[in-house]
Amino acid sequence: MSTTGSGAPAEVSQSDRLGTLFEELSELAGQRNAIDGRIVEIAAAIDREGLLGITGARSVAALIAWKVGTSPRNAKAIVTIADRLDEFPRCAAQLREGRLSVDQVGVIAEHAGEGSDDHYAQLAQSASVSQLRTALKLEPRPEPEPVADPLDDDKPPAPPPVPQPTVTSTGSDTDYVYWQLKLPHLDSAKFQAALQSHHDGLIAQWKHDHDDESNEQQPPWPTVGNAFMTLVEAGWDAEAYRRPHGQHTTVVVHVDADTDVAALHLGPLLTSEERRHLTCDATCEVWFERHGRPIGTGRATRTVGRRLRRALEHRDRCCVVPGCASTRGLHAHHIVHWEDGGETELDNLVLVCPYHHRAHHRGLITITGPAHRLAVSDHTGQPLKPGSLARPPTKPPPDVGTYPGSSGERADWWWYNPYEPPLRN
Ligand SMILES: [Zn+2]
Ligand SMILES: [Zn+2]
Repeated sequence: MSTTGSGAPAEVSQSDRLGTLFEELSELAGQRNAIDGRIVEIAAAIDREGLLGITGARSVAALIAWKVGTSPRNAKAIVTIADRLDEFPRCAAQLREGRLSVDQVGVIAEHAGEGSDDHYAQLAQSASVSQLRTALKLEPRPEPEPVADPLDDDKPPAPPPVPQPTVTSTGSDTDYVYWQLKLPHLDSAKFQAALQSHHDGLIAQWKHDHDDESNEQQPPWPTVGNAFMTLVEAGWDAEAYRRPHGQHTTVVVHVDADTDVAALHLGPLLTSEERRHLTCDATCEVWFERHGRPIGTGRATRTVGRRLRRALEHRDRCCVVPGCASTRGLHAHHIVHWEDGGETELDNLVLVCPYHHRAHHRGLITITGPAHRLAVSDHTGQPLKPGSLARPPTKPPPDVGTYPGSSGERADWWWYNPYEPPLRN
C-alpha cells in the first residue's frame, strides 16, 4: 500500500491521508453552506418582491427545487429559512459565513420559537441536525396567539379570502365523532356527485347480493353515510385506479348550445373560464341544451378512453409543465379545447396536475401544441424550460472559513437548558 518507500507504518499514512481529505471536506462544506446561504437570500427576495407569480411554479419551494435541481425536502428547508430570515439573523449569518449548514438552520427555522436566535445560533455550532431536533422538542410549545381585538381597527381590511374547503370535527360522544364540512360551490358539486354515484353503486350491489327481501339476516339498506365511507376508501386506493375506468366521480355541467352559458347541475352558473376548465378533462359530463332541453352529451368526442389515457401516461409520465413533475391526480388537458374543435387524440392531449391545469385555464400559463412540439410559457410569454439552472462555475467559490461540523459527541441532555421564551406581561 505504501509507495513512499520511507518505511512509515501504513496506519500513519492512512490517517494523514484522512486528515487531508477531512480538511478538504471541511473547506468544501463551508463553501457549500455559504452558497446555500445566498440561495436562501435569493428565495427570500423572490418571495418578497412578488416574482413567483410570473414563473409558473406553484410555490417558491417548487421553484427552487426546479431551478437548483435539488430535492423538494432540501428546497423546503431553504424556503423555511427564507421565511424567517428576519427572526434568525445570527443563524442566517452563520450560514452565509459557512459555519452552519442549511439542514441545521432549516430545523431551527422550522420549529424554534420566537426570540430564540441567539440560543440556537450558539447551540448549533456544536450540535448535529438530530441533536438540534431533540433540543427543539424540549422547547415548551407556545400558547395560542391571543385573538385580535375586533375593536382595534388600525389595520386596513384584508382582501376577502378565496373560499377553501374545510373539514372540522365538532365533538364526540361514546359512539360517534361529529364532523362539519364546508365546501366552495365547485367542490360541493363534485362531492355531491361523488356521493350520489357511490350511493347508487352500493344500492345496485345490495340488490344484486340480497334478492330475498324476506331474509331477516340481511344487512340494512345502504345509506348515504355508507356511500361516504366507500368514497373515502376509493380515494384511499390510489387515484390511478380511480380513473378513467373505475367509478367516475362525475360532475354534470349544463351548457346552453347557443350562448355557451354553463351551469353546474343543481348548482350555480359558471364563468366561461370555469366552464372551459371543468369541461376540458373527462372528469365531468356535459349536457348541451337548447332552450333548456337537452340535445346531446358530446361525451363521445372528448372522453379520454382507457387506452388513450394509458398511452398518455406512458408518454408524459407526469405533469408536462417544466419543473413540476407532479404525478398525482393528473388531468388530460386538451391543448385545443374540444369546444374549439380540438380532437381527443394523443397529439392534442397532455397530462397536467390540477394546479397547473387551473393555472392554465386562468391564463397564468400558456400551453401550445401539438404535444410532440409542446411549448409552455408563463403569462409574460417567456418559455418555461425544464432542468436546473446549474452550470459550471465561472467565479471563485465564496471566501469563507471552514465548516467545523458538530462535535460528534453524545449530547449530555442532563445539562442542557431548553430555550425558554421570555415571559411577557
Ligand atoms: Zn384543460
Ligand atoms: Zn404541474
